[in-house]
Amino acid sequence: MEIFDVIVIGAGPAGLEASIRLGQQNHRVLLIEKEENIGGKLTQWDKLFPDFFSAKELLEILQKKLNNNVQIVTKANLTDIYKENNIWNIVVNNNKYQTKSILIATGYNFFDAKRKEEYGYGIYPNVITSVELESMIGNGKITTLDGRIPQKIAYLQCVGSRDEKVGNHYCSINCCICAVKQSIEVKEILPNVEQYCFYMDLRMSGQFYEELYRQSQEKYQVQYIRGRVSEAASTIDNRIQIKAENTLLSTPLKLTVDLLVLMVGIEASATTKFLAEKFDIANNYGFLTSKHRHFADNETIYDGLFLAGTCKRPMTIPKSIKDGASAATEIDFYLKNKQ
Ligand code: SF4
Repeated sequence: MEIFDVIVIGAGPAGLEASIRLGQQNHRVLLIEKEENIGGKLTQWDKLFPDFFSAKELLEILQKKLNNNVQIVTKANLTDIYKENNIWNIVVNNNKYQTKSILIATGYNFFDAKRKEEYGYGIYPNVITSVELESMIGNGKITTLDGRIPQKIAYLQCVGSRDEKVGNHYCSINCCICAVKQSIEVKEILPNVEQYCFYMDLRMSGQFYEELYRQSQEKYQVQYIRGRVSEAASTIDNRIQIKAENTLLSTPLKLTVDLLVLMVGIEASATTKFLAEKFDIANNYGFLTSKHRHFADNETIYDGLFLAGTCKRPMTIPKSIKDGASAATEIDFYLKNKQ
């Protein structure tokens, strides 16, 4: 049986970048992906923030950089992983593969908005998620589910993040700037639309985020309301009535919109949780814990087992790619010193 140098689990941005770099270093890489296509969550984005770069183009660039040292298995169902005689074994689709090292890059899932019943997702058709809005923007057609052109749209931040009730205390990093990006794109498609964004805090922590946020207000007239939404309910004509508190003014507020967009946060994916539990390195939220956050963030407490990307914590796509590159450097060093 062939013994690979590395098996990379997950072909999202981090796993792809790591595979590219390890392949370039002449390591034999097996890249496994549970979905039919590679790209991970990159396939669910149309344009990326803050520069509106095409997600499809980014994926094509990454794909082209993969060389023949990288074998790919898609629709991969990982059922077991263990180490024996200093060699890692993984079982995928009932086939066993062997490798000197493993990189886990199993990414994240979007928060299931149905768990926040008070917002009516899955009950009222015109309550949608940011993932669904992204798909509409990509198609250039934004309508309510009953086919109307929306006149008013509201965005609700922190759905499934920073929320004690659902047990996710952390910030998902991406959703504040995603709402800014999407509201600009929506206004480009629907110039007459009114848009409102309800937030707890706006976290514009990346380069050029603040500028984009300012532009969304000054050029695209998005109105930001520091507010806590308590409830969303359907009106008789399928619009959505939002009850909120303006937390800056301490006043109650009611707003009726055609679409309510829930900015869903990031949670550990099922495979991330499975591996985190298997190796007993889960943090409080099911993400994987690295050996040391400050100086060994791609390593684990296990020899030859590495981590990259959002299987550790929420991060942006550029950070995931950089983390994949960093993991490849660590693995290259490990393999060269092991031989
Ligand atoms: Fe909330 Fe913004 Fe953090 Fe997302 S990025 S969890 S919307 S504060």
